[in-house]
Amino acid sequence: MKQRTFFMLKPDGVKLEEEILARIKSVAEIVAIKKYARLPLEKIAQLYEEHKDKPFYPWLVDYLKDNPATLMILEKKDGLNEDLFSLIDKLVGSTDPKKALPGTIRSLSPDSLEVAYSQNRAVQNLVHRSENETTAQREAALFFDVF
Ligand code: AMP
Repeated sequence: MKQRTFFMLKPDGVKLEEEILARIKSVAEIVAIKKYARLPLEKIAQLYEEHKDKPFYPWLVDYLKDNPATLMILEKKDGLNEDLFSLIDKLVGSTDPKKALPGTIRSLSPDSLEVAYSQNRAVQNLVHRSENETTAQREAALFFDVF
C-alpha cells in the first residue's frame, strides 16, 4: 500500500494554487481533491481541536469559514524511497514563513509569526499538512470517505 496523507491549501494558499501544486506533484499524486468556497464551521473546529485554547484560534476559525480552501488526499509517487511525511515536511518548510528555507512552499508567504502574534491572529502560511500517519487518517476522515 502506497503512503497517503491529507493536505490543505488555506485561503492564502488557494491564491498560489498552481505554484504550490506543481511543487507537491514532485513528490506526490493528488488522488482526491475538494474545493470549498467556505469550510463548514464544525469541520474547522475538529481539524484545529488542539489549538482551541490558543489566542489565535478565533481568528483562524473566522479566516477558514469565510474564505476558500482546497483539500486533498496525496499519495507518494513511485520510485521515491523517503517517507512521505518527511518529503512533505521538507517541501513545506517551517510554520513561521520567515524561518522557512528558500525554495520551500511557506517561504512564498510574506507573513511571519512575529507579525501575526503582534496582531493577535494566526500566521498565514499557505498550507496545512498532516504531521504523521495517525494525524493524516484522522484529518482525512473529516473530509473524505475513503483514504
Ligand atoms: P499546525 O497545527 O501547527 O499546522 O497549526 C495550525 C495553524 O495555526 C498554522 O498553520 C498557523 O496558521 C496557526 N498557528 C500555529 N501556531 C501558531 C502560532 N504560534 N502563532 C500564530 N499562528 C499559529
